[in-house]
Amino acid sequence: VTTLATLPALRSQRLGPKAALIVRDEPLSYDALERRSNQAAHALRREGIHPGARVAVLGRESLDSLVLLFGVAKARAVYVGLNWRLAPEELAYILEDSGAQLLFVDEESAALVPRVFEKMRGPLPVVRVGAPLSAPGAFAHWCEGAAPTPLDMAYDPEEVVVQLYTSGTTGRPKGVLLPHRSFLAISHALEAHGECWIGWTEASVSMLFVPTFHIGGLWWLVRGLALGSTQVVLRSFEPATILSSLARYRVTHTCMVPAMMQILLGEPGIHQADLSSLKAVVYGGAPISTALLEKGRRLLGCDFAQIYGMTETGNCAVCLRPEDHQNAPASRLRAAGRPFPGVQVRVLDEQGHEVPPGTIGQICLNSPARMAGYWHQPEETQKTLVGEWVMTGDAGYVDAEGFVYICDRVKDMIISAGENIYPAEIENVIRSHPEVADVAVIGVPDELWGEAVKALVVKQPGSTLRAGDILRHTRGALAEFKVPKSVEFTEGLPRNAAGKLLKGVLREPYWKGRE
Ligand code: AMP
Ligand code: MG
Repeated sequence: VTTLATLPALRSQRLGPKAALIVRDEPLSYDALERRSNQAAHALRREGIHPGARVAVLGRESLDSLVLLFGVAKARAVYVGLNWRLAPEELAYILEDSGAQLLFVDEESAALVPRVFEKMRGPLPVVRVGAPLSAPGAFAHWCEGAAPTPLDMAYDPEEVVVQLYTSGTTGRPKGVLLPHRSFLAISHALEAHGECWIGWTEASVSMLFVPTFHIGGLWWLVRGLALGSTQVVLRSFEPATILSSLARYRVTHTCMVPAMMQILLGEPGIHQADLSSLKAVVYGGAPISTALLEKGRRLLGCDFAQIYGMTETGNCAVCLRPEDHQNAPASRLRAAGRPFPGVQVRVLDEQGHEVPPGTIGQICLNSPARMAGYWHQPEETQKTLVGEWVMTGDAGYVDAEGFVYICDRVKDMIISAGENIYPAEIENVIRSHPEVADVAVIGVPDELWGEAVKALVVKQPGSTLRAGDILRHTRGALAEFKVPKSVEFTEGLPRNAAGKLLKGVLREPYWKGRE
């Protein structure tokens, strides 16, 4: 399998009636995935979607939305996955930036759409996914009459097939251009290397509850289907449903971010749940505490593997494998792992020189799964993708045995409940309030979410601004998970000579003795 477009046909030849997907308890065979994604591709063509056109998808995972992913690939269009937790203004920005020509939306997010279009130059044609046939504009209707046969097209692993938005230190989110190889190169490298990784095979049953608008979820989905395994997809993160589905489907493999693990392990049903089928849990996307990891290993009683990477590297580049978790010195559990086959790691100092083992610098990754660049942002692309190397913005070091340790973030990022949050985005919104003179947004420790967003605000002279005013101001413009959990007023903010906020100084009192 070298492209998403050819994956369904190749697997249906071998596995035919086997369930490829089970979404909300409804199965879809590899045969049906092939036929229905062909229909979707023909319907896209009929709608005027030509190669390179952007198609946006807003909502929870459904059989329709997953069929559509492969339909988009077959039409040689580009799938833009949207985070349904974003505010209308943020979604409007992404839709316009991507130049999407068609929007697919599920029932839960449909109500949001008029508010999104209001902020745009004009509305887009809309198709409803995950909706019953009777719903106006339902996907099944929209596909009606389209042929279930393959399109007459050739596919190139280097062609961009997915565009995912990720925020950065400059505020507005950027579209990361991901070619087919971003989803398949690590799998190929593992196979070529004869590495069985987490024992995930065609006979496995994997479960997905990480959203597919994030690279981690989408990569997991494609990996499971490329292997020919059955993938159980849940509509969102619901701990009780996860536990019952693990038992019901005899799930062998799943993945989650540390914040999800924290909540899942705290679910009362965990002690009675039948977890006997579980072989391996993959975690990553944010730092994990050793205590949480130990608790997870104890309660879930299966193999654990950590992955480290980012959207720009096509998800995982480095992995702490199951064998690295076993009989390892305790310090080893603080590592993110060693590179996957085919991936190279370098640590650079501020001048761009490689530093020796044990020395902290910026982690740079050269992965066969790396992005093609950012959409319409050549300068940002040049800064992040230097030749074949992705500058991660993460600070860390490599030890003498080649294990990568992430120490801190060079980039100013908050990870809360598994979402990456860039303070610049929030600061820009708060600063636009007429009574705000200055603002800094930082992450402070939070038991449940890992980090919580905190705003430190300097008022204009004479202002009677209150915390509630700041929250109301941000709520309309930003996703709920970016709205500060606390607001504190202060007389001034520490800046260096260049005027750059000294975030370390602001964070210090909250994190003292914890990091
Ligand atoms: P994203 O922008 O969503 O692609 O997130 C990528 C960032 O998440 C990385 O640059 C890291 O800062 C963080 N991250 C991902 N995996 C890990 C991990 N295993 N440990 C620590 N931080 C991680
Ligand atoms: Mg990012």
